[in-house]
Amino acid sequence: MKSKIMVTGGCGYIGSHTVIELIKSGFETVIVDDLSNSSEKSLDRIQEITGVLPHFEKVDLANQEKTMKIFKKHTDVKAVIHFAAHKAVGESVEQPLMYYQNNLFSLINLLSALEKYRIPNFIFSSSATVYGIPTNLPITEDEATQRPFSPYGNTKKVAEEILDDVVKSAANLNAISLRYFNPIGAHESGLIGELPNGIPNNLMPYITQVAVGIREKLMVFGNDYPTKDGTPIRDYIHVVDLAKAHVIAVERLLNQQNEAAFEYFNLGTGKGYSVFEVIRTFEEVTKTKLNYEVTSRRAGDVPQLYAATNLAEKKLKWKAKKGLKEMIASSWKWEQNVRGEG
Ligand code: UDP
Repeated sequence: MKSKIMVTGGCGYIGSHTVIELIKSGFETVIVDDLSNSSEKSLDRIQEITGVLPHFEKVDLANQEKTMKIFKKHTDVKAVIHFAAHKAVGESVEQPLMYYQNNLFSLINLLSALEKYRIPNFIFSSSATVYGIPTNLPITEDEATQRPFSPYGNTKKVAEEILDDVVKSAANLNAISLRYFNPIGAHESGLIGELPNGIPNNLMPYITQVAVGIREKLMVFGNDYPTKDGTPIRDYIHVVDLAKAHVIAVERLLNQQNEAAFEYFNLGTGKGYSVFEVIRTFEEVTKTKLNYEVTSRRAGDVPQLYAATNLAEKKLKWKAKKGLKEMIASSWKWEQNVRGEG
């Protein structure tokens, strides 16, 4: 058995896929999750897929005392991968304080615990939203970060800044921030995937919910952008590819292969697809007709966002392997499975 890795938000969408990949690579895992936007069922699913039940601590990381307690219990943790966060863009605009409180207090509490328990390795779940409206495409990690549109996005940017300061001041702390583009897809088993609370904000879960009959139609937020078909372009990446990058990042820190105390990498495929292309591919892959209507633009959406992938390829030796059809087919399989449960 390799080292013990703490995964905060490990019952959630990207967290649970990452726990599976960690277990497959021989790591012991401890999940810390308050289940505010995820289910304990993920634990059983992880066990069904891997044969291993991860350790589990139901804790809200915004509570400092409780956070310290889990570290006291798991003093052998060698690295923390931090996914736990609120993530709904619209909700963050309505309740900014709740977002700053939850997402930043939890980060600060974790970093304080790392300092106290001398745990030197930290992976942060960041987002391409830190680039704001990009001036150059594809977006490289050299691109200056900008104030993101939403408080949610800003918690990611501010968190990176906090990490930068803390890493600089600490004698022995190494961190990697992974900036995701648009994660979609689900595990090939169909046992775990994205399960948004209420009305989905994101394109893919919205599409699958329309196709399965839960929602009447997809609203396409604008077709007057300066892109090939007028709809915005995004870099969709399979969640399993993304999860694998986390295992590589952890190993990079554990093996002290990092070239700076704080590194950041884009995680995308480098290929952009428009909303209409995603809809067409969905219809083709699933052989269903999707009900949709073009409406006005959504505030804060940028026309185009896709990653330069060279740095991750060169330094992490990681490259996304799964294409859009595979992403969509797995999202669809998951949606059908979930609804089948009733
Ligand atoms: N989108 C849409 N209808 C929806 C949800 C999203 O047309 O119900 C579009 C959105 O305008 C964007 C793309 O789909 O161009 C991806 O949006 P998503 O919210 O999934 O990710 P984002 O890139 O905004 O983080």
